[in-house]
Amino acid sequence: MSGRVVFVGAGPGAADLITLRGARCLEAADVVLADALIDPALRELAPRARWVDVGKRGFAAATSQATIDALLVHYPRQVSLVVRLKGGDPSVFGRLEEELQALAAAGIEAEVVPGVTAALAAAADARRPLTRRGRGRSVALTTAVAAGADGTVTVTARRGADTEVFYMAGRHLAALGRALARAGWAAHTPVCVVSRAGAADAIVSTHAVDTLAEAGLLHAGRPTVVTVGVGAQAVATAPQAARAGTGKTLAAQQPRSSGQTLAP
Ligand code: SAH
Repeated sequence: MSGRVVFVGAGPGAADLITLRGARCLEAADVVLADALIDPALRELAPRARWVDVGKRGFAAATSQATIDALLVHYPRQVSLVVRLKGGDPSVFGRLEEELQALAAAGIEAEVVPGVTAALAAAADARRPLTRRGRGRSVALTTAVAAGADGTVTVTARRGADTEVFYMAGRHLAALGRALARAGWAAHTPVCVVSRAGAADAIVSTHAVDTLAEAGLLHAGRPTVVTVGVGAQAVATAPQAARAGTGKTLAAQQPRSSGQTLAP
């Protein structure tokens, strides 16, 4: 048998944020190799498939990358369609490079189906657009966290884009706040923190660079992205109301992110 592998972006955690193309791949899959943080409801979209969890969380690998690479090469020899289901988008902090290399080395065909990455789901939940006309012209998807060979974690930040979205920093928010200040972000720069973006129990909170540490407890133990800069600013809604001629402020439509609120 020489099957193929389709990498499918599952979206940020809610089953209905997968793409139609991704869902069709799941429907046809013989084997699904699934990451952690995948909504279990996605299993229902893959009725024929043998479902294999190969989850990793943070730097503590439940399944090593070498094992995942070996499984990726193993299954296409047994079945015709293997779906490698990854959280968010496969091309963003998803180790896709290594997995494509492993398949290429084994001569196995690969395809990639994109997904909604956490930064985009967070912007949607917060109703805070990542780009803004004239002043928010660039967005960077960034990780602040690097693990050394001895397992020590270092947190560094940068100021390369008008809006920076930091992945994998949820456990290091205090250190990220300090790193942002060192990188030249002003103390009052808005910072928007979203955990379990895209899910019904998403939490959105807003802070400033010098108060980011306070977000730690609120989002503890949940996958979290941190948006800094122009894209973290609240959208002013009053002018819209005036244009619409209602004369009312849109209080009911304020993002649930104003202040530190729990999502409904
Ligand atoms: N490929 C994924 C990212 C994998 S790295 C994507 O495109 O979204 C894992 C990191 O992604 C987590 O540490 C967290 O920072 C972020 N993340 C994943 N799912 C998330 C979610 N639902 N809400 C907030 N952050 C999330």
